[in-house]
Amino acid sequence: MLIDSFGRCIDYLRVSVTDRCNYRCFYCMPRTGVRFAAAADLLTSEELARLIRLFAELGVHRVRLTGGEPLVRRDLAGLAAMIGRLPDIVDLSLSTNGQLLARHAHALKQAGVTRVNISLDSLDPKVFARIACGGDLRAVLRGIEAALDAGMAPVKLNMVVMRGINDQEIETMLEFAVAHGVDLRYIETMPVGPQAADGMAHHYPAALILERLRRHAGAELVPAKGGRGAGPARYYQIGSGPVRVGVISAVSRHFCAGCNRVRLTASGELVLCLGHNDRVSLREALRGGCSDETLKTMIRAAVMNKPERHDFQKTGGEIVAIPMSALGG
Ligand code: SAM
Ligand code: SF4
Repeated sequence: MLIDSFGRCIDYLRVSVTDRCNYRCFYCMPRTGVRFAAAADLLTSEELARLIRLFAELGVHRVRLTGGEPLVRRDLAGLAAMIGRLPDIVDLSLSTNGQLLARHAHALKQAGVTRVNISLDSLDPKVFARIACGGDLRAVLRGIEAALDAGMAPVKLNMVVMRGINDQEIETMLEFAVAHGVDLRYIETMPVGPQAADGMAHHYPAALILERLRRHAGAELVPAKGGRGAGPARYYQIGSGPVRVGVISAVSRHFCAGCNRVRLTASGELVLCLGHNDRVSLREALRGGCSDETLKTMIRAAVMNKPERHDFQKTGGEIVAIPMSALGG
């Protein structure tokens, strides 16, 4: 088991398989002057799969493929298949903007990706384009259908709620999720990376989101059974239907005491907390011929240094220099 110095069990790894993206969401990536990792530093699928196997042998059982946009990585299905074959990995999931998902959903499901989170910040094509600076809303909607058709479950939508940009769609998005039978998570902007100030200028607190949902539903929101889960979202049931809504409020209500995760970047850096710059590069050791045991010792030592908590409220995010697109969200 991977245990950190605060007694937290780390059993979940988020792998940013690329820092490239086909969008430029203004709260995540600068529209110009993005500094990508050098191509030579990006790990091959075999290298990523080896590291993930070592994490699995140390006690990680759940892996999420993210990015940047993971579907712009050409060999994603091949990488997923390698991870899917690891006996200790019981849960393989994907976070995507959905733009290319219609084309790949079935192959990814076959490769072992069983669950998907799809970002959808707006159902209005103009607002969508303003946020993402590109992309085609219709392609994302086809991607959602394809994920359902491929049998991925659950399919979850992620909406980053921003005051004055898309907050008018809080209720519409709920209706959309209910109509399609998918879960929905509302996310507060987080102050991470060079876009921190731009995102936080539109911060919309989770408490207000919940209040609006309460008014819209005309009833109290009932915390969903097992609704806290291992992740950062708090889930609520809407009426008697199967759909759950979650809120992720990293700023107004941090969830660090139960944190179970670390992150691996596409260039082989192990990131211990979304709110700190601390990271340990595994790339040189991996490429320098280190044994599995040496790499495992490095991973164990890094995890022991996982910070106790982020302090987004205090720092305003200025200390986190790595863009969200490289961290994987
Ligand atoms: N490209 C994929 C996507 O957009 O779903 C995966 C990577 S993206 C970095 C993962 C998640 O992080 C998305 O749900 C995105 O909306 C969220 N995200 C990015 N920047 C954020 C920020 N500053 N605050 C809150 N969430 C953010
Ligand atoms: Fe790309 Fe996802 Fe960041 Fe948007 S949130 S720029 S889709 S990585």
